[in-house]
Amino acid sequence: MSRNFACRLSGEVASPSGAAAAALRARAAQWEMPILETADRLVWSLWGGELRLIPERDSLRIELHGPERRQIGLLQDMVSEALAEAGLGVAWDHVDVGALAPGLAVMRVASVRRLSPGFLRIRLSGPEAGRFGQGGLHFRLLLPPPGRVPVWPRIGPTGRTIWPEAADALHRPVYTVAAQQGDWLDFDIYRHPGSPTCDWAMSGIEGSDVAIMGPGGGWLPEAPQILLFGDQTALPAIRRIMQLQPLCAPESRILGAWLRVDSADLVGLASDPRITAVPDLLGALRAAPLPEAAHVWFAGHADDARQARDELTARGLGRKSVTAAAYWS
Ligand SMILES: Cc1cc2nc3c(=O)[nH]c(=O)nc-3n(C[C@H](O)[C@H](O)[C@H](O)COP(=O)(O)OP(=O)(O)OC[C@H]3O[C@@H](n4cnc5c(N)ncnc54)[C@H](O)[C@@H]3O)c2cc1C
Repeated sequence: MSRNFACRLSGEVASPSGAAAAALRARAAQWEMPILETADRLVWSLWGGELRLIPERDSLRIELHGPERRQIGLLQDMVSEALAEAGLGVAWDHVDVGALAPGLAVMRVASVRRLSPGFLRIRLSGPEAGRFGQGGLHFRLLLPPPGRVPVWPRIGPTGRTIWPEAADALHRPVYTVAAQQGDWLDFDIYRHPGSPTCDWAMSGIEGSDVAIMGPGGGWLPEAPQILLFGDQTALPAIRRIMQLQPLCAPESRILGAWLRVDSADLVGLASDPRITAVPDLLGALRAAPLPEAAHVWFAGHADDARQARDELTARGLGRKSVTAAAYWS
C-alpha cells in the first residue's frame, strides 16, 4: 500500500525493459531490504520515503515520495547511481545541480573538551542541528585533508552526488549523536592511536566549519527486553539508547548493558545498576541468559560483530532479534 508524502519527484527511463527493476531489486537484495511488487508497480520503502517504479507504454516512470526534500535527494542519488551502473539514464523532472549533497549540514565547531580519560566531546552548532536529534542515532563526519580548503560533495547534473577526489578526498568516519538540543549537537570521540579524527579534534578546531551527513544508521532497538553489548566506540550509542529509551520506546525494557571500556569512561552511567564493565565482550555475551523475547544489540570490532551474530543465531535468535554492527575494523 502506497503512503502519502509531502514531497515528490518524478523521472523517466526511456526503456520500459526490466533492466531498471532488476537493478533496483539487486540493490535491495544487497541491503537485505524488502521490495513490494504488484501487477502494475514496484514499491520500495526506505529512509523514510518511498520509491515507485511504474511501467508505461514506451517508458518507465520513477516516482520518489518523501516527507522532506532530503529523503527525495537521497533516493534520487541512489536510483541514479544504481541505474547508471546498469547502463540506464534517468530524465528527472528536476535536479538541484550544484546544491550540497542531500543530508549534508555545514556546522561550526563550538567547543572541544575532554569528557573522560578516553574520550573527547565535540559540540557542533548550526541551524540544522535539530534534525540530527531524531530519526537516526548516527551521522557521517566529513573531514577534508589537513590544511586544504574543504570541497563538499554536491549534486551533479544526473542527480548523483559528486564526491571530491584525490587531494580533496574526504575522510568520512561515522559517529553517534551524544546529545542534541536547540542549535547544537554533541558527539564523543574515542581516542586511539593513528586516528585522523582525533588528530583533527586536537588541532585547534574551535570556530572552524565541518560538514556532517545524516542522520542515519537506525534508531532505538524495539523489543520487550533488550540486552546491549559494546566496546568503546559503542559507548556513546549505548549511553544515548539508554537515555532515549524511556522517552521514545517506553514499552521496551533494557535488561543490561555490557561494555568493554575503562570504568573511568562511564560518565553518566557509572551508577546505573544495569551497566557492567567487562574485559571480554564475547565472553559476556556467551554468559548472558537470553530471555525468549529479547533483542540483542551488539556493536564493536567487525570480527567481534560477525562472531556475535553467528553465535546468537546458533543459540536460536532470529534475524530480527539481533543487531550486530561493525563499528570499526
Ligand atoms: C554507526 C557507528 C557509530 C559510531 N559511533 C562512534 C562514536 O560515537 N564514537 C567513536 O569514537 N567511534 C564511533 N564509531 C567508530 C568510528 O567510526 C571508527 O572508530 C572510525 O574508525 C574512527 O575513525 P578514525 O579517523 O579514528 O580512524 P580510521 O581512519 O577509520 O582508522 C585509523 C586506524 O585506527 C584504527 N581504529 C579505528 N577505530 C579504532 C578503535 N576503536 N580502537 C583502536 N583502533 C581503531 C583502524 O583500524 C585504523 O588502523 C562508530 C561507528 C559506526 C559504524
